[in-house]
Amino acid sequence: MQLLDPVNRFVAADRGGLIGGEWVPGSGGTIDVENPATGTILTSVANMTATDVDAAVDAARRALPVWRGLPPTERAQLMWRLGDLIAERADELAQLDALDNGKTVGDALAVDLPLTIEIFRYYAGWVTKIEGRQLPISIPDFHAYTRREPMGVVGAIVPWNFPLLMCAYKLGPALAAGNTVVLKPAEQTPLSALRLGELIIEAGFPPGVVNIITGDGPTTGAPLAAHTGVDKVSFTGDYQTGRKILDASQGNLKRVTLELGGKSPNIVFPDAQLEAAVDGAFGSVFFNQGQCCIAGSRLFAHEAIADELVERLVAKAEGIVLGSGLDDRTDMGPLVSAVQLDRVLGHVERARQDGATVLTGGERGEGTLAAGHFVRPTVVTDVDSSMPIMNDEVFGPVVAVSRFTDEADVVERANDIRFGLAAGIWTTDVRRTHRVAAALQAGTVWVNTYGMFDVAAPYGGYKMSGYGRELGEESLDAYLQSKTVWVNLA
Ligand code: ADP
Repeated sequence: MQLLDPVNRFVAADRGGLIGGEWVPGSGGTIDVENPATGTILTSVANMTATDVDAAVDAARRALPVWRGLPPTERAQLMWRLGDLIAERADELAQLDALDNGKTVGDALAVDLPLTIEIFRYYAGWVTKIEGRQLPISIPDFHAYTRREPMGVVGAIVPWNFPLLMCAYKLGPALAAGNTVVLKPAEQTPLSALRLGELIIEAGFPPGVVNIITGDGPTTGAPLAAHTGVDKVSFTGDYQTGRKILDASQGNLKRVTLELGGKSPNIVFPDAQLEAAVDGAFGSVFFNQGQCCIAGSRLFAHEAIADELVERLVAKAEGIVLGSGLDDRTDMGPLVSAVQLDRVLGHVERARQDGATVLTGGERGEGTLAAGHFVRPTVVTDVDSSMPIMNDEVFGPVVAVSRFTDEADVVERANDIRFGLAAGIWTTDVRRTHRVAAALQAGTVWVNTYGMFDVAAPYGGYKMSGYGRELGEESLDAYLQSKTVWVNLA
Protein backbone atom coordinates (compact mmCIF):
# COMPACT_ATOMS: atom_id res chain seq x y z
CA MET A 1 0.00 0.00 0.00
CA GLN A 2 1.32 3.43 -0.96
CA LEU A 3 1.45 6.02 1.76
CA LEU A 4 -0.86 8.93 1.00
CA ASP A 5 0.93 12.19 0.15
CA PRO A 6 -0.42 14.03 3.21
CA VAL A 7 0.84 11.17 5.38
CA ASN A 8 4.34 11.40 3.92
CA ARG A 9 4.33 15.16 4.35
CA PHE A 10 3.03 14.92 7.89
CA VAL A 11 5.59 12.35 8.99
CA ALA A 12 8.45 14.36 7.50
CA ALA A 13 7.35 17.66 9.04
CA ASP A 14 9.02 19.23 12.05
CA ARG A 15 6.53 19.60 14.83
CA GLY A 16 6.25 20.24 18.50
CA GLY A 17 3.18 20.15 20.65
CA LEU A 18 -0.06 22.08 20.41
CA ILE A 19 -0.28 24.65 23.20
CA GLY A 20 -2.80 27.49 23.20
CA GLY A 21 -3.57 26.96 19.52
CA GLU A 22 0.09 27.22 18.44
CA TRP A 23 2.58 24.54 17.51
CA VAL A 24 5.48 25.02 19.88
CA PRO A 25 8.82 23.16 19.77
CA GLY A 26 9.03 22.10 23.42
CA SER A 27 11.85 22.84 25.83
CA GLY A 28 13.39 19.36 26.06
CA GLY A 29 14.96 17.00 23.61
CA THR A 30 13.24 14.73 21.14
CA ILE A 31 12.27 11.08 21.04
CA ASP A 32 12.39 8.87 18.00
CA VAL A 33 9.22 7.36 16.67
CA GLU A 34 9.78 3.91 15.25
CA ASN A 35 8.07 1.85 12.59
CA PRO A 36 7.66 -1.43 14.50
CA ALA A 37 7.28 -3.45 11.31
CA THR A 38 10.78 -2.55 10.13
CA GLY A 39 12.61 -1.25 13.19
CA THR A 40 13.43 1.94 11.29
CA ILE A 41 12.93 5.45 12.64
CA LEU A 42 9.99 7.27 11.10
CA THR A 43 10.49 10.67 12.66
CA SER A 44 11.01 12.27 16.03
CA VAL A 45 8.74 14.27 18.31
CA ALA A 46 9.35 16.64 21.20
CA ASN A 47 10.00 15.11 24.61
CA MET A 48 8.16 17.89 26.39
CA THR A 49 9.15 18.83 29.91
CA ALA A 50 7.48 20.12 33.05
CA THR A 51 7.93 23.64 31.66
CA ASP A 52 5.88 22.72 28.60
CA VAL A 53 3.31 20.99 30.79
CA ASP A 54 2.97 24.24 32.77
CA ALA A 55 2.40 26.17 29.55
CA ALA A 56 -0.18 23.65 28.32
CA VAL A 57 -2.07 23.64 31.62
CA ASP A 58 -2.04 27.47 31.66
CA ALA A 59 -3.42 27.54 28.13
CA ALA A 60 -6.13 25.06 29.06
CA ARG A 61 -7.06 27.10 32.12
CA ARG A 62 -7.28 30.32 30.13
CA ALA A 63 -9.48 28.58 27.59
CA LEU A 64 -11.93 27.31 30.22
CA PRO A 65 -14.16 30.42 30.37
CA VAL A 66 -14.04 30.69 26.59
CA TRP A 67 -15.15 27.10 26.06
CA ARG A 68 -17.77 27.19 28.81
CA GLY A 69 -18.96 30.55 27.53
CA LEU A 70 -19.88 29.22 24.10
CA PRO A 71 -23.53 28.29 23.69
CA PRO A 72 -23.97 24.52 23.93
CA THR A 73 -25.18 24.38 20.33
CA GLU A 74 -21.89 25.91 19.17
CA ARG A 75 -19.79 23.53 21.22
CA ALA A 76 -21.84 20.67 19.83
CA GLN A 77 -21.30 21.87 16.28
CA LEU A 78 -17.54 22.08 16.77
CA MET A 79 -17.43 18.53 18.07
CA TRP A 80 -19.62 17.31 15.24
CA ARG A 81 -17.39 19.12 12.74
CA LEU A 82 -14.35 17.40 14.24
CA GLY A 83 -16.08 14.04 13.77
CA ASP A 84 -16.71 14.96 10.13
CA LEU A 85 -13.10 16.00 9.56
CA ILE A 86 -11.87 12.71 11.05
CA ALA A 87 -14.25 10.86 8.72
CA GLU A 88 -12.90 12.81 5.73
CA ARG A 89 -9.31 11.98 6.72
CA ALA A 90 -9.97 8.42 7.90
CA ASP A 91 -7.55 6.89 5.37
CA GLU A 92 -4.74 9.21 6.45
CA LEU A 93 -5.33 8.64 10.14
CA ALA A 94 -5.48 4.87 9.65
CA GLN A 95 -2.13 4.96 7.86
CA LEU A 96 -0.59 7.03 10.65
CA ASP A 97 -1.79 4.53 13.26
CA ALA A 98 -0.47 1.67 11.13
CA LEU A 99 2.90 3.41 10.78
CA ASP A 100 3.82 3.92 14.42
CA ASN A 101 1.62 1.31 16.11
CA GLY A 102 1.95 -1.49 13.58
CA LYS A 103 -1.75 -2.34 13.39
CA THR A 104 -3.21 -3.07 9.98
CA VAL A 105 -4.84 -0.26 8.06
CA GLY A 106 -7.80 -2.61 7.60
CA ASP A 107 -8.30 -3.00 11.35
CA ALA A 108 -7.86 0.74 11.88
CA LEU A 109 -10.51 1.47 9.25
CA ALA A 110 -12.86 -1.22 10.53
CA VAL A 111 -12.57 -0.53 14.26
CA ASP A 112 -10.51 2.46 15.41
CA LEU A 113 -11.77 5.08 12.97
CA PRO A 114 -15.53 4.37 13.00
CA LEU A 115 -15.64 4.35 16.80
CA THR A 116 -13.51 7.50 17.01
CA ILE A 117 -15.89 9.33 14.68
CA GLU A 118 -18.93 8.00 16.50
CA ILE A 119 -17.54 9.14 19.86
CA PHE A 120 -17.27 12.76 18.73
CA ARG A 121 -20.77 12.66 17.25
CA TYR A 122 -22.33 10.91 20.25
CA TYR A 123 -20.83 13.33 22.76
CA ALA A 124 -21.64 16.28 20.49
CA GLY A 125 -25.23 15.18 21.01
CA TRP A 126 -24.79 15.25 24.78
CA VAL A 127 -23.57 18.85 24.90
CA THR A 128 -27.13 20.18 24.63
CA LYS A 129 -28.56 17.61 27.05
CA ILE A 130 -26.57 18.07 30.24
CA GLU A 131 -29.16 19.14 32.81
CA GLY A 132 -29.35 19.84 36.52
CA ARG A 133 -32.44 19.10 38.61
CA GLN A 134 -34.87 21.02 40.69
CA LEU A 135 -34.70 19.45 44.16
CA PRO A 136 -37.90 18.52 46.05
CA ILE A 137 -36.70 19.96 49.35
CA SER A 138 -39.07 19.96 52.35
CA ILE A 139 -38.09 23.35 53.72
CA PRO A 140 -40.64 26.06 52.80
CA ASP A 141 -39.68 29.25 51.00
CA PHE A 142 -36.49 27.89 49.51
CA HIS A 143 -35.72 26.89 45.99
CA ALA A 144 -32.87 24.45 45.44
CA TYR A 145 -31.45 23.04 42.27
CA THR A 146 -28.33 21.37 40.93
CA ARG A 147 -26.07 22.55 38.17
CA ARG A 148 -23.79 20.12 36.41
CA GLU A 149 -20.46 21.79 35.85
CA PRO A 150 -17.20 20.71 34.27
CA MET A 151 -14.29 19.62 36.44
CA GLY A 152 -12.03 22.20 34.80
CA VAL A 153 -8.73 21.22 33.21
CA VAL A 154 -8.46 17.55 32.30
CA GLY A 155 -5.14 15.76 31.84
CA ALA A 156 -5.67 12.88 29.44
CA ILE A 157 -2.89 10.29 29.30
CA VAL A 158 -3.34 7.60 26.70
CA PRO A 159 -1.56 4.39 25.70
CA TRP A 160 -0.23 3.16 22.39
CA ASN A 161 -2.55 0.25 21.57
CA PHE A 162 -5.37 2.31 19.99
CA PRO A 163 -3.55 5.60 19.50
CA LEU A 164 -6.28 7.76 17.96
CA LEU A 165 -9.26 5.99 19.50
CA MET A 166 -7.95 6.39 23.05
CA CYS A 167 -7.65 10.15 22.46
CA ALA A 168 -11.32 10.18 21.46
CA TYR A 169 -12.32 8.16 24.56
CA LYS A 170 -11.04 11.05 26.67
CA LEU A 171 -11.71 14.07 24.48
CA GLY A 172 -15.33 13.28 23.61
CA PRO A 173 -16.84 13.30 27.10
CA ALA A 174 -14.33 15.80 28.54
CA LEU A 175 -15.16 18.42 25.91
CA ALA A 176 -18.89 17.72 25.93
CA ALA A 177 -18.92 18.32 29.68
CA GLY A 178 -17.27 21.73 29.15
CA ASN A 179 -13.72 20.90 30.27
CA THR A 180 -10.54 21.89 28.50
CA VAL A 181 -7.88 19.26 27.95
CA VAL A 182 -4.16 18.63 27.97
CA LEU A 183 -3.72 15.40 26.03
CA LYS A 184 -0.60 13.27 26.13
CA PRO A 185 -0.36 10.46 23.58
CA ALA A 186 2.00 7.56 24.21
CA GLU A 187 5.59 8.18 23.20
CA GLN A 188 5.52 5.18 20.83
CA THR A 189 2.46 6.39 18.90
CA PRO A 190 2.11 10.18 18.81
CA LEU A 191 1.41 10.65 15.10
CA SER A 192 -2.38 10.39 14.84
CA ALA A 193 -2.84 12.50 17.99
CA LEU A 194 -0.75 15.27 16.44
CA ARG A 195 -2.71 15.03 13.20
CA LEU A 196 -5.87 15.22 15.30
CA GLY A 197 -4.48 18.48 16.71
CA GLU A 198 -4.38 19.89 13.20
CA LEU A 199 -7.98 18.82 12.64
CA ILE A 200 -9.01 20.42 15.94
CA ILE A 201 -7.57 23.72 14.69
CA GLU A 202 -9.22 23.24 11.30
CA ALA A 203 -12.58 22.55 12.96
CA GLY A 204 -12.34 25.95 14.64
CA PHE A 205 -12.01 25.08 18.34
CA PRO A 206 -10.90 28.11 20.38
CA PRO A 207 -7.16 28.03 21.13
CA GLY A 208 -6.26 26.17 24.30
CA VAL A 209 -9.42 24.05 24.49
CA VAL A 210 -7.33 21.05 23.44
CA ASN A 211 -3.58 21.08 24.01
CA ILE A 212 -1.42 18.16 22.91
CA ILE A 213 1.94 17.47 24.46
CA THR A 214 4.25 14.65 23.39
CA GLY A 215 6.86 12.86 25.40
CA ASP A 216 7.56 9.87 27.56
CA GLY A 217 6.04 8.94 30.90
CA PRO A 218 8.66 10.31 33.30
CA THR A 219 9.38 13.51 31.35
CA THR A 220 5.90 14.53 30.23
CA GLY A 221 3.28 12.25 31.78
CA ALA A 222 4.46 12.48 35.38
CA PRO A 223 4.43 16.31 35.61
CA LEU A 224 1.02 16.35 33.97
CA ALA A 225 -0.35 13.79 36.43
CA ALA A 226 1.08 15.73 39.37
CA HIS A 227 0.16 19.24 38.19
CA THR A 228 -1.98 21.06 40.73
CA GLY A 229 -3.56 23.09 37.93
CA VAL A 230 -5.08 19.90 36.55
CA ASP A 231 -8.48 19.10 38.07
CA LYS A 232 -8.89 15.62 36.72
CA VAL A 233 -6.69 13.00 35.15
CA SER A 234 -8.09 10.35 32.91
CA PHE A 235 -5.58 7.59 32.31
CA THR A 236 -5.50 4.40 30.31
CA GLY A 237 -2.50 2.11 30.60
CA ASP A 238 -0.65 -0.32 32.77
CA TYR A 239 -1.94 -0.85 36.31
CA GLN A 240 1.48 -0.11 37.76
CA THR A 241 1.43 3.28 36.04
CA GLY A 242 -2.12 3.72 37.31
CA ARG A 243 -0.79 3.48 40.85
CA LYS A 244 1.74 6.22 40.10
CA ILE A 245 -1.04 8.39 38.65
CA LEU A 246 -3.02 7.90 41.83
CA ASP A 247 -0.01 8.82 43.98
CA ALA A 248 0.59 11.89 41.84
CA SER A 249 -3.02 13.02 42.26
CA GLN A 250 -2.54 13.64 45.98
CA GLY A 251 -1.09 17.16 45.68
CA ASN A 252 -4.49 18.65 44.89
CA LEU A 253 -6.61 15.50 45.37
CA LYS A 254 -7.56 15.67 41.73
CA ARG A 255 -10.25 13.39 40.35
CA VAL A 256 -8.89 10.30 38.64
CA THR A 257 -10.33 7.83 36.17
CA LEU A 258 -8.20 4.76 35.52
CA GLU A 259 -8.70 2.22 32.78
CA LEU A 260 -6.03 -0.37 33.47
CA GLY A 261 -5.14 -3.88 32.55
CA GLY A 262 -6.96 -7.15 32.51
CA LYS A 263 -6.51 -10.87 32.34
CA SER A 264 -9.92 -11.66 31.06
CA PRO A 265 -11.47 -15.11 31.25
CA ASN A 266 -13.19 -16.46 28.17
CA ILE A 267 -15.22 -19.53 29.11
CA VAL A 268 -16.45 -22.08 26.58
CA PHE A 269 -19.15 -24.37 27.95
CA PRO A 270 -19.89 -27.78 26.39
CA ASP A 271 -23.19 -26.54 24.95
CA ALA A 272 -21.53 -23.68 23.04
CA GLN A 273 -21.67 -23.38 19.27
CA LEU A 274 -18.11 -24.46 18.78
CA GLU A 275 -17.31 -22.70 15.54
CA ALA A 276 -18.45 -19.36 16.93
CA ALA A 277 -16.52 -20.02 20.13
CA VAL A 278 -13.33 -20.79 18.18
CA ASP A 279 -13.70 -17.59 16.16
CA GLY A 280 -14.48 -15.64 19.30
CA ALA A 281 -11.55 -17.06 21.25
CA PHE A 282 -9.27 -16.35 18.32
CA GLY A 283 -10.41 -12.74 17.84
CA SER A 284 -10.48 -12.08 21.57
CA VAL A 285 -6.77 -12.62 21.98
CA PHE A 286 -5.21 -12.10 18.56
CA PHE A 287 -6.97 -8.92 17.45
CA ASN A 288 -4.56 -5.97 17.56
CA GLN A 289 -1.72 -8.47 18.20
CA GLY A 290 -3.31 -9.15 21.57
CA GLN A 291 -2.44 -5.63 22.66
CA CYS A 292 -5.89 -5.04 24.11
CA CYS A 293 -6.77 -4.53 27.76
CA ILE A 294 -9.77 -6.78 27.22
CA ALA A 295 -7.84 -9.62 25.54
CA GLY A 296 -9.43 -12.97 26.41
CA SER A 297 -6.05 -14.25 27.50
CA ARG A 298 -7.34 -16.94 29.87
CA LEU A 299 -9.36 -19.38 27.81
CA PHE A 300 -11.30 -21.86 29.93
CA ALA A 301 -12.41 -24.83 27.83
CA HIS A 302 -14.80 -27.49 29.11
CA GLU A 303 -13.23 -30.97 29.02
CA ALA A 304 -15.89 -32.19 26.57
CA ILE A 305 -14.87 -29.74 23.84
CA ALA A 306 -11.36 -28.71 24.89
CA ASP A 307 -9.42 -30.93 22.47
CA GLU A 308 -11.39 -29.82 19.45
CA LEU A 309 -11.40 -26.17 20.52
CA VAL A 310 -7.65 -26.12 20.99
CA GLU A 311 -6.97 -27.98 17.77
CA ARG A 312 -9.07 -25.52 15.77
CA LEU A 313 -7.60 -22.52 17.57
CA VAL A 314 -4.06 -23.69 16.85
CA ALA A 315 -4.91 -24.28 13.17
CA LYS A 316 -6.34 -20.76 12.88
CA ALA A 317 -3.36 -19.26 14.70
CA GLU A 318 -0.97 -21.01 12.35
CA GLY A 319 -2.87 -19.62 9.36
CA ILE A 320 -2.24 -16.03 10.37
CA VAL A 321 -0.14 -14.01 7.93
CA LEU A 322 2.24 -11.69 9.75
CA GLY A 323 3.42 -8.56 8.02
CA SER A 324 3.39 -4.80 7.83
CA GLY A 325 0.11 -3.16 8.73
CA LEU A 326 0.40 -1.29 5.44
CA ASP A 327 0.33 -4.52 3.40
CA ASP A 328 -3.18 -5.62 2.38
CA ARG A 329 -2.25 -9.29 2.77
CA THR A 330 -1.36 -8.92 6.43
CA ASP A 331 -3.60 -10.45 9.09
CA MET A 332 -1.46 -9.42 12.04
CA GLY A 333 1.13 -6.68 12.38
CA PRO A 334 4.09 -6.40 14.72
CA LEU A 335 4.06 -5.60 18.41
CA VAL A 336 4.54 -1.92 19.09
CA SER A 337 8.16 -2.00 20.27
CA ALA A 338 11.23 -4.06 21.07
CA VAL A 339 10.39 -3.61 24.76
CA GLN A 340 6.98 -5.12 24.19
CA LEU A 341 8.45 -7.95 22.11
CA ASP A 342 10.86 -8.86 24.89
CA ARG A 343 8.12 -8.62 27.48
CA VAL A 344 5.79 -10.94 25.56
CA LEU A 345 8.49 -13.51 24.72
CA GLY A 346 9.64 -13.34 28.34
CA HIS A 347 6.16 -14.30 29.52
CA VAL A 348 6.10 -17.28 27.16
CA GLU A 349 9.57 -18.38 28.21
CA ARG A 350 8.61 -18.18 31.85
CA ALA A 351 5.50 -20.30 31.16
CA ARG A 352 7.72 -22.90 29.48
CA GLN A 353 9.99 -22.97 32.50
CA ASP A 354 6.95 -23.36 34.75
CA GLY A 355 6.01 -26.52 32.86
CA ALA A 356 3.39 -25.19 30.44
CA THR A 357 3.28 -26.49 26.86
CA VAL A 358 3.57 -24.03 23.99
CA LEU A 359 1.47 -25.63 21.26
CA THR A 360 2.22 -23.02 18.64
CA GLY A 361 3.99 -19.68 18.38
CA GLY A 362 6.11 -18.29 21.18
CA GLU A 363 8.74 -17.14 18.76
CA ARG A 364 9.64 -14.12 16.65
CA GLY A 365 8.84 -13.74 13.01
CA GLU A 366 11.81 -14.73 10.86
CA GLY A 367 13.22 -13.86 7.42
CA THR A 368 11.83 -10.56 6.16
CA LEU A 369 10.04 -10.14 9.49
CA ALA A 370 13.19 -10.39 11.60
CA ALA A 371 13.84 -6.65 11.67
CA GLY A 372 10.36 -5.90 13.03
CA HIS A 373 8.80 -6.80 16.37
CA PHE A 374 6.73 -9.74 15.20
CA VAL A 375 5.57 -12.55 17.46
CA ARG A 376 3.78 -15.60 16.13
CA PRO A 377 0.31 -16.15 17.60
CA THR A 378 0.84 -18.32 20.62
CA VAL A 379 -1.31 -20.98 22.30
CA VAL A 380 -0.16 -22.29 25.67
CA THR A 381 -1.68 -25.25 27.56
CA ASP A 382 -0.95 -27.30 30.68
CA VAL A 383 -1.21 -24.21 32.81
CA ASP A 384 -2.44 -23.83 36.36
CA SER A 385 -3.71 -20.86 38.26
CA SER A 386 -0.47 -20.38 40.20
CA MET A 387 1.56 -19.62 37.06
CA PRO A 388 2.35 -16.03 36.07
CA ILE A 389 1.01 -16.78 32.56
CA MET A 390 -2.43 -17.16 34.19
CA ASN A 391 -2.13 -14.04 36.33
CA ASP A 392 -0.04 -11.39 34.58
CA GLU A 393 -1.18 -9.31 31.66
CA VAL A 394 0.93 -10.33 28.64
CA PHE A 395 -0.43 -7.71 26.25
CA GLY A 396 0.52 -9.78 23.24
CA PRO A 397 -0.84 -12.58 21.05
CA VAL A 398 -0.68 -15.24 23.73
CA VAL A 399 -3.58 -17.31 25.03
CA ALA A 400 -3.33 -19.68 27.99
CA VAL A 401 -5.85 -22.53 27.79
CA SER A 402 -7.14 -24.14 30.94
CA ARG A 403 -9.67 -26.98 31.26
CA PHE A 404 -12.68 -27.29 33.53
CA THR A 405 -15.60 -29.61 34.19
CA ASP A 406 -17.80 -27.73 36.62
CA GLU A 407 -19.55 -24.38 36.21
CA ALA A 408 -19.17 -23.19 39.78
CA ASP A 409 -15.50 -24.16 39.76
CA VAL A 410 -14.74 -22.30 36.53
CA VAL A 411 -16.52 -19.18 37.75
CA GLU A 412 -14.43 -19.29 40.91
CA ARG A 413 -11.23 -19.69 38.92
CA ALA A 414 -12.25 -16.95 36.48
CA ASN A 415 -12.78 -14.57 39.40
CA ASP A 416 -9.67 -15.61 41.29
CA ILE A 417 -7.51 -12.83 39.96
CA ARG A 418 -6.76 -9.21 40.80
CA PHE A 419 -8.20 -7.89 37.54
CA GLY A 420 -11.84 -7.57 36.47
CA LEU A 421 -12.06 -5.78 33.15
CA ALA A 422 -14.02 -8.16 30.92
CA ALA A 423 -15.13 -11.73 30.48
CA GLY A 424 -16.63 -13.91 27.77
CA ILE A 425 -18.96 -16.88 27.99
CA TRP A 426 -20.02 -19.24 25.25
CA THR A 427 -23.18 -21.24 25.88
CA THR A 428 -26.60 -21.90 24.38
CA ASP A 429 -28.21 -22.36 27.79
CA VAL A 430 -30.14 -19.19 28.60
CA ARG A 431 -30.25 -19.89 32.33
CA ARG A 432 -26.50 -20.40 32.44
CA THR A 433 -26.00 -17.20 30.47
CA HIS A 434 -27.56 -15.00 33.11
CA ARG A 435 -26.30 -17.01 36.08
CA VAL A 436 -22.69 -16.83 34.98
CA ALA A 437 -22.89 -13.25 33.68
CA ALA A 438 -24.10 -12.19 37.13
CA ALA A 439 -21.42 -14.20 38.93
CA LEU A 440 -18.40 -12.96 36.97
CA GLN A 441 -16.48 -10.06 38.49
CA ALA A 442 -15.92 -7.95 35.41
CA GLY A 443 -16.97 -4.56 34.05
CA THR A 444 -18.17 -6.14 30.81
CA VAL A 445 -19.43 -9.65 30.08
CA TRP A 446 -19.85 -10.77 26.50
CA VAL A 447 -22.10 -13.73 25.78
CA ASN A 448 -21.55 -15.65 22.55
CA THR A 449 -19.47 -12.77 21.31
CA TYR A 450 -16.32 -10.99 22.43
CA GLY A 451 -14.87 -7.51 22.20
CA MET A 452 -18.06 -5.71 21.17
CA PHE A 453 -17.83 -1.97 21.68
CA ASP A 454 -20.36 0.75 21.10
CA VAL A 455 -20.14 4.36 22.15
CA ALA A 456 -23.38 3.96 24.12
CA ALA A 457 -22.07 0.98 26.13
CA PRO A 458 -20.04 1.90 29.24
CA TYR A 459 -16.74 0.16 29.65
CA GLY A 460 -14.34 -0.14 32.57
CA GLY A 461 -13.01 -2.37 35.27
CA TYR A 462 -13.75 -4.08 38.54
CA LYS A 463 -10.94 -4.58 41.04
CA MET A 464 -7.46 -3.57 39.85
CA SER A 465 -8.67 -3.00 36.30
CA GLY A 466 -9.54 0.54 37.21
CA TYR A 467 -11.80 3.29 38.49
CA GLY A 468 -14.77 4.65 36.62
CA ARG A 469 -16.29 3.94 33.24
CA GLU A 470 -15.62 5.18 29.74
CA LEU A 471 -18.09 5.62 26.88
CA GLY A 472 -21.82 6.08 27.31
CA GLU A 473 -23.45 8.46 29.73
CA GLU A 474 -21.29 7.14 32.61
CA SER A 475 -18.18 8.59 31.02
CA LEU A 476 -19.79 12.00 30.83
CA ASP A 477 -20.56 11.81 34.56
CA ALA A 478 -16.87 11.29 35.22
CA TYR A 479 -16.07 14.71 33.74
CA LEU A 480 -18.85 16.61 35.53
CA GLN A 481 -19.37 17.73 39.09
CA SER A 482 -22.60 18.71 40.72
CA LYS A 483 -23.28 22.03 42.43
CA THR A 484 -26.32 22.55 44.65
CA VAL A 485 -27.76 26.08 44.67
CA TRP A 486 -30.06 27.24 47.50
CA VAL A 487 -32.17 30.35 47.00
CA ASN A 488 -34.09 31.99 49.84
CA LEU A 489 -37.47 32.97 48.42
CA ALA A 490 -38.78 34.55 51.62
P1 ADP B 1 3.28 0.70 28.76
O1 ADP B 1 4.18 0.23 29.89
O2 ADP B 1 2.60 -0.40 28.08
O3 ADP B 1 3.95 1.64 27.80
P2 ADP B 1 2.16 2.75 30.36
O4 ADP B 1 1.08 2.63 31.36
O5 ADP B 1 3.54 2.97 30.87
O6 ADP B 1 2.10 1.49 29.44
O7 ADP B 1 1.84 3.92 29.34
C1 ADP B 1 0.58 4.51 29.13
C2 ADP B 1 0.73 6.02 29.09
O8 ADP B 1 1.17 6.46 30.37
C3 ADP B 1 1.76 6.54 28.11
O9 ADP B 1 1.27 7.74 27.54
C4 ADP B 1 2.97 6.81 28.99
O10 ADP B 1 3.85 7.78 28.47
C5 ADP B 1 2.30 7.31 30.24
N1 ADP B 1 3.09 7.20 31.46
C6 ADP B 1 4.04 6.28 31.77
N2 ADP B 1 4.54 6.51 33.01
C7 ADP B 1 3.89 7.57 33.51
C8 ADP B 1 3.93 8.30 34.76
N3 ADP B 1 4.75 7.96 35.73
N4 ADP B 1 3.08 9.34 34.91
C9 ADP B 1 2.22 9.69 33.93
N5 ADP B 1 2.14 9.07 32.75
C10 ADP B 1 2.95 8.03 32.52
